[in-house]
Amino acid sequence: MGEVLELDCVVIGGGVVGLAVARELAIAGREVVLLETEPMTGSVTSSRNSEVIHAGLYYPTGSLKAELCVAGKRKLYDYCRERHIPHKRCGKLVVASSEVEVAYLEKLLKQAEANGVDDCFLIDSVELARLEPQITGFAALVSPSTGIIDSHRLMESYIADIEAHSGAIVLKSPVLGGELLSGAVRLSAGGRDPVEIEAKLVVNAAGLNAWAVSESILGLDRTTVPERYYAKGCYFSLAGRAPAGRLIYPVPEPGGLGVHLTLDMAGQARFGPDVEWVEAIEYDVDPRRADRFYAAIRRYWPDLADGALLPAYSGMRPKVVGPEAGGGGDFIMQGPETTGHPAYAALYGIESPGLTASMAIAERVRRLMLG
Ligand SMILES: Cc1cc2nc3c(=O)[nH]c(=O)nc-3n(C[C@H](O)[C@H](O)[C@H](O)COP(=O)(O)OP(=O)(O)OC[C@H]3O[C@@H](n4cnc5c(N)ncnc54)[C@H](O)[C@@H]3O)c2cc1C
Repeated sequence: MGEVLELDCVVIGGGVVGLAVARELAIAGREVVLLETEPMTGSVTSSRNSEVIHAGLYYPTGSLKAELCVAGKRKLYDYCRERHIPHKRCGKLVVASSEVEVAYLEKLLKQAEANGVDDCFLIDSVELARLEPQITGFAALVSPSTGIIDSHRLMESYIADIEAHSGAIVLKSPVLGGELLSGAVRLSAGGRDPVEIEAKLVVNAAGLNAWAVSESILGLDRTTVPERYYAKGCYFSLAGRAPAGRLIYPVPEPGGLGVHLTLDMAGQARFGPDVEWVEAIEYDVDPRRADRFYAAIRRYWPDLADGALLPAYSGMRPKVVGPEAGGGGDFIMQGPETTGHPAYAALYGIESPGLTASMAIAERVRRLMLG
């Protein structure tokens, strides 16, 4: 074997979560190297989402998703203000399209309050028509603390912090495999200059590939690697002006939050993501899926014109629970106690609200690894 590069902390994966973790460890004074397969950071799931700062309404109280979404949202708004990252606290309406759904909104309000989201309230159809004249419904839940963010500017800022604390990001460096040693982890990184690494701490933040990375590490107890499912979500963009100034959501569907209206920082409207359980990762958007979008959107925006939706992009949710079991599932964050090795941590199922929660996830990883 050739020379082995000895490193302190290695983070595998340069999406928004891996970058947040590397930033947190670097600020804590550790020497951090982040390895990323692709020629740029943030080009996988972190580029294929709704860019919504979620309030934390839906998740079961006590789940990591609930706790880290609410904590992450606060940190993210503070950070955006401090660092001048484009964002907007535009608010969101969850719209009930039937009496049955009104009862759901009442439950959702209680769920939000139990999660520590204390600024939500219900409005009737008259108030809804006053707030958003083009949107119709029996009632709506207003979430004032939901917002949107320029996620690429956020990731640039995380990178600036990593580099300011002497961390390094190495692109085109896929982790191909490794082995748990006593008190350290050996990793083989590929790319143009393959290298063998021995690291004192390794955090697997490889997103959709986190399962494969853990399975490639010799000595890791395979029973710690959870089940894996993929739920694809497609988006369609709207030709023309957005019908609302707030984000508009229907009541959720199994596996996702329902086909909702989101806005980007330029005010462009898009709808999605739907939910399609798939076996393999591919990102084509089938224009025929538009039929279901028209039907879903017209429940809350009846004036949507034929032909106004254009296929846009798709993202893939890394899931730990499949459709038969309801498609929910929590984030899985394994520190040394769970992986069974003092130097190895792994994150699985970091789907939505992973962007919102990224700073809180990073803080949790630091505590799991460094105490
Ligand atoms: C359709 C959809 C909509 C969403 N909407 C929202 C939203 O509105 N708000 C919100 O808060 N969250 C949202 N999310 C969730 C959010 O996008 C994710 O939680 C977040 O982007 C996950 O970041 P990550 O860093 O874990 O994964 P990724 O962004 O996928 O990053 C993982 C990185 O690891 C790299 N990698 C993989 N294997 C290796 C290897 N062997 N070696 C080195 N590098 C490797 C990959 O190239 C990739 O860059 C959404 C997700 C989806 C799918």
